[in-house]
Amino acid sequence: MSLLVVGTVAFDAIETPFGKTDKIVGGAASYISLAASYFYKNINLVSVIGDDFPQEFLDILKKQGTNLDGLQIKKGQKSFFWSGKYHNDLNTRDTLDTQLNVLADFDPVVPESALSPEFLMLGNLVPAVQQKVIAQLKTRPKLIVLDTMNFWMDIALNDLIATIKMVDVLTINDSEARQLSGEYSLVKAAQKILQMGPKVLVIKKGEHGALLFNNEEVFFAPALPLEEVFDPTGAGDSFAGGFIGYLAKTKDISFDNMKRAIIFGSAMASFTVEKFGTERLIGLSESNVNDRVQEFVELVQFDLA
Ligand code: AMP
Repeated sequence: MSLLVVGTVAFDAIETPFGKTDKIVGGAASYISLAASYFYKNINLVSVIGDDFPQEFLDILKKQGTNLDGLQIKKGQKSFFWSGKYHNDLNTRDTLDTQLNVLADFDPVVPESALSPEFLMLGNLVPAVQQKVIAQLKTRPKLIVLDTMNFWMDIALNDLIATIKMVDVLTINDSEARQLSGEYSLVKAAQKILQMGPKVLVIKKGEHGALLFNNEEVFFAPALPLEEVFDPTGAGDSFAGGFIGYLAKTKDISFDNMKRAIIFGSAMASFTVEKFGTERLIGLSESNVNDRVQEFVELVQFDLA
């Protein structure tokens, strides 16, 4: 029984209204693994890096419970690099640069010991690579969650649509939901996207929370109004990590439990944005996480009379 995480392990250069970083460690799978590790320890990572990546960060991933046997390290090559600049509202950003480097010809190999995961988290990555991972598995996971972004809608839409067909839950942000469906209304967008294959859709709306849809119901989780928001990079991935980590821990994939899981996902995202990069997701205690979740509960609790 395990959780298989696929996605980028990367270098990011980030500019926000509060500061600028040179190359720091990021990548969808880095955030997902760290966030999920607070709920579930048996995590296997499938990804690729160059030999320019810091060993210290890999040691942190291992220490927090992620097995790195499926992480390929390509000699003489560079890791994936992404650079982005946030607008003043911190809710929208422009991608300044995407250098695929090792990702350009990545051929994922799922280690023998990870071929029958109970949960599969397909983090942001080349859609064809995400499919190759599914194809290698011996048994279909109990739950497959897919996260992606506009970049792949722009350059690999057909592959992405084929991947979306194969998954149970899709998580994207509001502008990506509009782009994918061609609908402005998020309710209409959700109806169209659910027809593409997934049973459940999560639409992330940054500081405005997240919506959870299936064909019958919709549920809303707020984002925590934070005093310090420093860098939103990785918020979506931390959300996905918390979401699937909680589901893996509780082994319950009902829609009702997914309502709880998006609160846990939102709690992990709320930590990430408080510091640059992955820093805030390292070394949290169980009570840090529980207290944060309790803040969400209190935020939306009210009496009718
Ligand atoms: P998020 O802010 O949660 O959407 O994710 C940010 C992370 O996604 C960064 O750490 C980047 O390294 C990574 N990223 C950016 N663009 C891509 C892409 N096209 N494919 C995969 N990962 C990406």
